[in-house]
Amino acid sequence: MHEECGVVGVSFKDEAPAALSIYYALYALQHRGQESAGITVHDGTQVRTLKGMGLVPDVFNRGDIQKLKGHVGIGHVRYSTTGGSKIENCQPLLVSFKSGTIAIAHNGNLVNSKELRAELEKEGRIFLSESDTEVIAHLLVKRLMHSELEDAVRELMKRLVGSYSLAILVDNKLVVVRDPLGIKPLCLGQIDNGYVVASESAAIDILNGQLIRDVAPGEMIIFSNGSYESKQLVRSRNYAHCVFEYIYFARPDSVIDGHLVYDARMRIGMTLFEEHPVNAEIVSPVPDSGITYAIGFSKRSGIDYMEGLMKNRYIGRTFIMPGQDMRETAVRLKLNTIKPNIQGKSIVLVDDSIVRGTTSRRIINLMRKSGTREIHMRVASPPIISPCYLGIDMATREELVAAHKAVKGVEALINADSLGYLSVDGLVKSIGIPLDDLCVGCLTGVYPVEIPGEQCARRQLKLSEF
Ligand code: SF4
Repeated sequence: MHEECGVVGVSFKDEAPAALSIYYALYALQHRGQESAGITVHDGTQVRTLKGMGLVPDVFNRGDIQKLKGHVGIGHVRYSTTGGSKIENCQPLLVSFKSGTIAIAHNGNLVNSKELRAELEKEGRIFLSESDTEVIAHLLVKRLMHSELEDAVRELMKRLVGSYSLAILVDNKLVVVRDPLGIKPLCLGQIDNGYVVASESAAIDILNGQLIRDVAPGEMIIFSNGSYESKQLVRSRNYAHCVFEYIYFARPDSVIDGHLVYDARMRIGMTLFEEHPVNAEIVSPVPDSGITYAIGFSKRSGIDYMEGLMKNRYIGRTFIMPGQDMRETAVRLKLNTIKPNIQGKSIVLVDDSIVRGTTSRRIINLMRKSGTREIHMRVASPPIISPCYLGIDMATREELVAAHKAVKGVEALINADSLGYLSVDGLVKSIGIPLDDLCVGCLTGVYPVEIPGEQCARRQLKLSEF
């Protein structure tokens, strides 16, 4: 399972350089995408962009940041969902047109991008990338030719189906938009002399800023001259915040839609014990994503927390020579056992999710080779039975082990002594947001927007109702 993207927007009142703040904020969002990074700034007369493949420190050096002059700008880190991993698909996407320039940073995935693209191509528009962000850019430019900014964005939102948190530079104006269901996070903060908008509040913290609030689903905010104006362009009956932000993607120190991710994970760990109690000698996480859950499980159960696996945090993009058991080697490079902690013991092993089951099986086999007596697997996510169409690179339905096997079948496949998944009810209770305001599409097969061939909860306004 891969993170999607992170977006940032910064607007300063005076001539303070935005690029350095965007650079730091992108560092804070690096976990959301490691394939490419980019920054676009505007100084009132000129737009400047720098983007490239790799991590934030691979793409920018001190000289680059100094050359990116401008008091307003946007930034992006990417993991590809729509479109491949190549430079053409890096963001921000910059487009020049008759009336000026726009640059777009997008987190999310449109489910109707193919239709929109075909329609635009019929009109003679040429695409340079495969990303759905270019579809958004074309649609916006088309409307900006005839309408004021607010109307153009409202019209744009009428056409988009799916998830989108957008940071847009329209000449030297920063505009941010969140989809009507609030599927992807986006929050607003105040920093010295200006404002910052970011996918997660941790990015505001590292700029020494103050979180003001989340950008509301369906809201547009326009920043200029040190102030901002908010417009609620679309109001949906319900929201559909992605539960995987709480389970896996977001940093534990981020506050998303009013809920600290760390607290939600701690409660999930506690609920996991209440739903699947077990007698064991220690509770141990699969690092790093299982740590907070394991602490919660330990607290509620009274079973000692002890680490049994150590993660190599410096592995980066390692190549593995063919001819070996590549996946086995990959797991060994990434994780090693702390033998004295687990030898001869019965262990509760806590992880965030099981996607294909192959990684869990390899980890459990690694622990068994180190002499662990019993391994009781507890999983913070309910079984993932359906793919994600809304911006998470998960797996196809065929690859999802829980789509084809019941709990006992998965338990046997991963070679655990017992297996317990959190229930959807337990997850909802632990996060603290009503089910009607969450997306649980990959856990139930019922999605918040219409997706061909899938069931829909029909929470989003039909396009004709906007
Ligand atoms: S389908 Fe799953 S991963 Fe995708 S947005 Fe919904 S909850 Fe998140």
